[in-house]
Amino acid sequence: MAIQNAPQRIPFGRPVIGEEERQAELDVLAGSQLVHGPRSKAFEQGFAARLGPEAAATSVASCTAGLHLVYMHLGIGTGDEVIVPAQTHVATAHAVEITGARPVFVDCERTTGNIDPDALAAAITSRTRAISVVHYLGLPVAMDAVMDIARARNHPVIEDCALAIGGAVDGVACGLIGDVGVFSFYPVKHMTTAEGGMVAGRDHDLIRSVERLKAFGYDRMLGERKVPGVYDVVALGLNYRMNELEAAIGIEQLRRLDGFDAARRRNAAALRTALAGVPRITVLADGDARHRHANYCLAVVLDDDLGPRRPEIIERMAGMGIGTSVYYPGPVPHMTYYRQKYGISLSNFPEARRISLNSIALPVGPHLAEHHMREVAAALSDVIRELPA
Ligand SMILES: *Cc1c(COP(=O)(O)O)cnc(C)c1O
Repeated sequence: MAIQNAPQRIPFGRPVIGEEERQAELDVLAGSQLVHGPRSKAFEQGFAARLGPEAAATSVASCTAGLHLVYMHLGIGTGDEVIVPAQTHVATAHAVEITGARPVFVDCERTTGNIDPDALAAAITSRTRAISVVHYLGLPVAMDAVMDIARARNHPVIEDCALAIGGAVDGVACGLIGDVGVFSFYPVKHMTTAEGGMVAGRDHDLIRSVERLKAFGYDRMLGERKVPGVYDVVALGLNYRMNELEAAIGIEQLRRLDGFDAARRRNAAALRTALAGVPRITVLADGDARHRHANYCLAVVLDDDLGPRRPEIIERMAGMGIGTSVYYPGPVPHMTYYRQKYGISLSNFPEARRISLNSIALPVGPHLAEHHMREVAAALSDVIRELPA
């Protein structure tokens, strides 16, 4: 409670919303079209164009909804298995679980938090139907290795890009490397629509299919109906659409995205430099010439002996007005639902457990300036040095 109530001069995340977004909302409300309108189309086209000229995209209610729709499109269900990283948001697994299929969890690499390709290969069985990956905290996964494994067995690869807007491998945007990418516009992510998500990829038929599934399985969308109100239903679908108010925010946020990206890069670089002298921590790996980091945040992993002191460290930083977060509070297979259902031991997934329990996510968002980064690093350094024994 104390952590949440402390005033934060340097919050972990805060959406950057301006006059343009406010005016765009008023414009939507002044009209009568709140769903199925031109804004969601324009947002989809603008988002796809940013990913690459060959991309198509369809907006959805959230990243979770988008992942669910992808598995529905793939026909995945009871008796099937889908590879899921252990070190991710629970949504990556829930989207599989909700179809009746079984998520088969795979541990992460120690230095990146991304799925370990060797462990991935070892987890594949005759029931595997798809492979999902998450670009953890914005660092692209070793996609060469993942795609080799997937192509050899003809498995589709689903990229959870909730933290990866701006990430790329060899200049190819995250989301276009595998078979489909799913993005999140939750408030503290790279850009926001309040709630919202996007399914994007090179496979236009897949995107078209997801578009149908997000709208009840209608055979034609509102604008395509010759006689108003007359349609057929050709698939089992849901109502997972994004509305016009959300899309209107998204259009304005797209205009800000280059600036957001530049600020994140600048802040992450400054924070990495400033953290160099901080004792008893390791900073998770940076991108390289091939893997462009999306810089969602910067996570430091406390040395094993310091790990149990994490709550105190976080609380002391909060007391200094510095917001931090934890990504994620535990490996997904260790969450009660999955642990009980699949009888998973806490000794499984040791690397994901180490990062989950020992890491602190530090802010680098565009709501912060470079001098804040030096303040964050100095505060962490002081707190660690001054911890009572
Ligand atoms: C936030 C997040 C999600 C969920 O996104 P929503 O848009 O809130 O559904 C999924 N996967 C990852 C990796 C996330 O960080």
